[in-house]
Amino acid sequence: MTTERKALPVVNTERCTGCGWCVAVCPPHVLSLGVLRWKKFSQLHDAPGCTGCALCAVKCPFDAIAMVRQPAPANHRPR
Ligand code: SF4
Ligand code: SF4
Repeated sequence: MTTERKALPVVNTERCTGCGWCVAVCPPHVLSLGVLRWKKFSQLHDAPGCTGCALCAVKCPFDAIAMVRQPAPANHRPR
């Protein structure tokens, strides 16, 4: 288990068109397409498996992915 802080992709479902580019480029295959109210969108289905590489955010043609740094677990915060 890693204790270092990493950024995870957060998908803006308003902007996401469900094109699947991010799913295709993700090296560990932790993104998949889901359906919400008949609209496809990208979702992170395995957050611990995400390396935080940001390839998905770079590749998204619609600027729908933001990399958001996750807070460190309480017992690993610097004093
Ligand atoms: S940041 Fe990298 S590993 Fe994480 S979902 Fe995006 S492409 Fe995949
Ligand atoms: S590349 Fe962007 S628009 Fe396409 S499915 Fe991924 S988040 Fe949605």
